[in-house]
Amino acid sequence: MEQDGGGEDYLFKIVIIGDSAVGKSNLLSRYARNEFDLHSKATIGVEFQTQVVDIDGKEVKAQIWDTAGQERFRAVTSAYYRGAVGALVVYDISRRTTFDSVKRWLDELTTHSDTTVARMLVGNKCDLENIRDVSVEEGKSLAEAEGLFFMETSALDSTNVKTAFEIVIREIYDNVS
Ligand code: GDP
Ligand code: MG
Repeated sequence: MEQDGGGEDYLFKIVIIGDSAVGKSNLLSRYARNEFDLHSKATIGVEFQTQVVDIDGKEVKAQIWDTAGQERFRAVTSAYYRGAVGALVVYDISRRTTFDSVKRWLDELTTHSDTTVARMLVGNKCDLENIRDVSVEEGKSLAEAEGLFFMETSALDSTNVKTAFEIVIREIYDNVS
């Protein structure tokens, strides 16, 4: 349990990782502000957004970190991962290369974490069914093999975005309480 004077009972750091342009920033803006940007620039990004949720009557503050586009250079720093207790590992269901990168992102996460991290595999852009390049089954079985939660989402039409974040938050809560 962490206290920072803000009055919340718990403070959880969650990181969003995955290849460039899979929709990480838009998943966060959809969740935290209910906003979506069709022309979002990789360079524009805040460090993190906080979202307060109620779990079993406890005030839980989720501090959700977004990259500022440094994943393009494979240079996400250890500071980004430091203290994270949850992670969304995102790929784009319409681009197989982003799915192929998931293992590398998981390895990087493991390398940088010294504690149990609640991990969710997220297949984003499920609104692009007509140009789907990775099946739901493939996502599911990778998640099963790696011991991750799994969900397909759309930051564009909001499908499962709130659910994905809240499953991770709930799992972290169960891990620490
Ligand atoms: P990031 O580099 O992983 O942070 O990706 P962004 O959030 O910047 O999104 C990259 C591009 O994909 C932008 O043009 C977004 O508008 C688009 N995008 C993000 N999420 C979705 C989605 O769920 N569906 C569709 N169709 N496009 C999306
Ligand atoms: Mg981004």
